[in-house]
Amino acid sequence: MKASFRLVTIAGIEIGIHYTWLLAFALITWTLAEGFFPDAFPGWSTATYWVTGVIAALLLFLSVLVHELAHSLVARSRGLPVQGITLFIFGGVSSLGAEARSAWEEFAIAVVGPATSLLLAAAFGVGYWATAHQDSPPTAILAYLALINAMLGLFNLLPGFPLDGGRVLRAAIWGATGSFYRATRIAAGVGQGLAFLFIGWGVFQVLTGNVLGGLWIAFIGWFLNSAAEASRQETVVQETLRGVRVSEVMERNPEVISPGFAVDVLVRDFFLQRGKRALPVHEDGQLVGIVSITDVKGVAPDKWASTRVAQVMTTTPLWSVSPDSDVAEALRLLAERGLNQLLVVAGGAAVGVVSRENILRYVQLMSDLGVSRRPGALGRRG
Ligand SMILES: [Zn+2]
Repeated sequence: MKASFRLVTIAGIEIGIHYTWLLAFALITWTLAEGFFPDAFPGWSTATYWVTGVIAALLLFLSVLVHELAHSLVARSRGLPVQGITLFIFGGVSSLGAEARSAWEEFAIAVVGPATSLLLAAAFGVGYWATAHQDSPPTAILAYLALINAMLGLFNLLPGFPLDGGRVLRAAIWGATGSFYRATRIAAGVGQGLAFLFIGWGVFQVLTGNVLGGLWIAFIGWFLNSAAEASRQETVVQETLRGVRVSEVMERNPEVISPGFAVDVLVRDFFLQRGKRALPVHEDGQLVGIVSITDVKGVAPDKWASTRVAQVMTTTPLWSVSPDSDVAEALRLLAERGLNQLLVVAGGAAVGVVSRENILRYVQLMSDLGVSRRPGALGRRG
């Protein structure tokens, strides 16, 4: 998640905080200090309520962190790369570098989070029960933590993707049908249904006077809906692209330029008249570089006539794929490197260009034709 700063590293896992977390922290502290604690434990001073509120809110986020660590540690123990944990306005998120490889793995990684929250709730509940005769801030904090962890555990068990319960549902359907994609589509569909219920409930709360609580619920619904929709679309794209080769979507026989051309010819004849943004540079039929608008930016216009393409072109790194590569691989490179297009290279020459637009056009065409999956295409997931 962008716009977050690194806090600590626990067991080799980077813990970050997204700036929206600060808003959640302030809101929760305020609700606790002005509402929850004065209602449940009357008669304390305002300062006591606020100090208790701050400590309880911090411990709530520590609980969320423990929940996420449980996901991450189980994923890592199964050999999946863990990129880190980010705390943000709606809780926490563990970023895994890869999807689970089996339904059981998915189930184990998903279920351990809510299980951890429910265990924490039980532990805090015992603590509260043992100290319930005292009307003190520690008792109040234990009561709150028992309650909030139980709610966290139960909320995350709701069966809509991307909630943990939705992942459990996906694992179950995946296990039963053997299709990861179908399982994701169904779990994300249930997730969107749940999200709309949340939005409706939130709006109802706002209309009946609970403005802040209602908005909060509606926002959670909105967030769940966008996350579910994003994974559903991603699944459609992945499924459509499964087994598809770069050679099927690339633009063939790209126009090339030779290194001896002057930059003013490049700008006038290629960038301006033919609308190119980048061109492979070929010498004796072999790829020697790529030249783009960015490369020319650094040259003053009065030097264009005297500057050769060879002087401005990029020679390393030349990101490329082979015509036989999976489109998924090209898509990954484009995203990871923030590139607009990739060269398709065979036998040392550029034989094509593939861009995100080419790939999306293919997905759009397949969807317009009503083809979600090519017959005979085989992938890792069946
Ligand atoms: Zn979780």
